[in-house]
Amino acid sequence: MAESAEADWVSRFADEVISEAERRAPGKPIVCASGLSPSGPIHLGNLREVMTPHLVADEIRRRGLDCVHLLSWDDYDRFRRVPAGVDPSWAEHIGKPLTSVPAPPGSPHANWAEHFKAPMTAALTELGVDYRGISQTEQYTSGAYREQILLAVRERSRIDAILAAYRTKDGGREVADYFPYKPYCELCERDLTKVTAYDDETTELAYTCECGFGETVRLAEHDRGKLVWKVDWPMRWAYEGVVFEPSGVDHHSPGSAWVVGGQIVGEVFGGEQPIGPMYAFVGITGMAKMSSSKGDVPTPADALGIMEAPVLRWLYARRKPAQSFKIAFDQEIQRLYDEWDALARKVDSGQAQPAELAAHARAVGTAAGPLPATPVPVPYRTLASILDITTGHDEQALRILRDLDAVDRLDQARPRLDRAQRWVADHLPADQRTHVRETPDQDLLDSLGQTERESLRLLADGLDDWTLDGLTSLVYGVPKLQAGLDADAKPTPELKAAQRAFFVLLYRLLVGRDTGPRLPTLLMAVGADRVRKLVGG
Ligand SMILES: [Zn+2]
Repeated sequence: MAESAEADWVSRFADEVISEAERRAPGKPIVCASGLSPSGPIHLGNLREVMTPHLVADEIRRRGLDCVHLLSWDDYDRFRRVPAGVDPSWAEHIGKPLTSVPAPPGSPHANWAEHFKAPMTAALTELGVDYRGISQTEQYTSGAYREQILLAVRERSRIDAILAAYRTKDGGREVADYFPYKPYCELCERDLTKVTAYDDETTELAYTCECGFGETVRLAEHDRGKLVWKVDWPMRWAYEGVVFEPSGVDHHSPGSAWVVGGQIVGEVFGGEQPIGPMYAFVGITGMAKMSSSKGDVPTPADALGIMEAPVLRWLYARRKPAQSFKIAFDQEIQRLYDEWDALARKVDSGQAQPAELAAHARAVGTAAGPLPATPVPVPYRTLASILDITTGHDEQALRILRDLDAVDRLDQARPRLDRAQRWVADHLPADQRTHVRETPDQDLLDSLGQTERESLRLLADGLDDWTLDGLTSLVYGVPKLQAGLDADAKPTPELKAAQRAFFVLLYRLLVGRDTGPRLPTLLMAVGADRVRKLVGG
């Protein structure tokens, strides 16, 4: 990594974070942070929230420094709405902490939050993200934030004044109404509560709930409530000593959590705002064609189903956080893989630029070591084409790959092979799938003229050299032979036209269309006997 230390955005942030950490808390582990809400399936777009600090923390670790990446699970947030596809009766849980809501029917997990955390946790492990997860439910209900909560409540007028500066001046609310702590109701567990009285001396807090329940508790002993979001976030910056935490563009408008948090963290909690780049939106292409049983939300697990972890890491490493980009579930993934393979060749040959080297190194491994790689990286588009034609028949796929001199065993092409398999199954549009005919197209065969019949006979007779090279020579050679040319004859416009016409004829007879995968590959997948049958041989 030494040669790339100055080269990319990750290194520059690492420099900044290290020097800032040295100023703020010398000698202590450096803290980077992310936050995720397990309120539903965690969208692939939210992965940037984790990948940005991960890459910076990883660079700091590569430099031999102690760095922790905290991942706050906002699982003590309220359950807001029942997503489509879940029993409407879950509406009775709206207002409860996410960890108090039952998991969706059929889930093996203990509660709603755990159900949605689990796939994200698995994806982060596969991506090599080394983090320390923090359940905000555990933090709040264990009283970990007791002093910070009492402090925020004591300073509620100051907080309200900070927030008021950003509020539109439509009057209405008295400053005295503002209360930064929201109790969850002791009886119904929901947050439909209103604080009706608070005594700063005794910390006695009275609340009523929409369910009719009401009680008076001592806040100094109360562990069933949380600070409101705009106070909770800066509280945690101070509590955890966060030096780096990026956030999405939606947090950066005037009066938003990031902006007011920057004031609250210093004026109330005596801490400092982290270095916090705003990261741009990550878009998804090609999901419209995806038939998903779990709704339209693409998750990191979905992306890892069709691409290897290093490729997904690379998408984040090569773009600055402020640059938006798209993750392709459509044909674009083939081009992405071409680029990735080209980069690997450049790196191997020593031709890569420093920024390319850095992004590649961050993609293929972490400070802990390399991530699993595919031993023989057969081009993704080749794999997709083979898997499309062979429709899951490992033996046929292996025969073609062997003949390409690519691999001796399918394992050598894994896990990339499995990713391409999933892509073909889930994302290759039906109208682009190759369907080899079961029976000959007798009408077409009957309509052929003498020259065409002859070309098919020559093909059927030449199927002995059952290699990709042999089949390539054959399909290009048949029109040459018919034109009375040598096998190594230079192509003329007439010959090219004859070859094109011959290829179209073969595609129509084999797959019922004018185009398809490369013919030698297609012939190999279909098999000699079936080819002979379909061309009327
Ligand atoms: Zn209640």
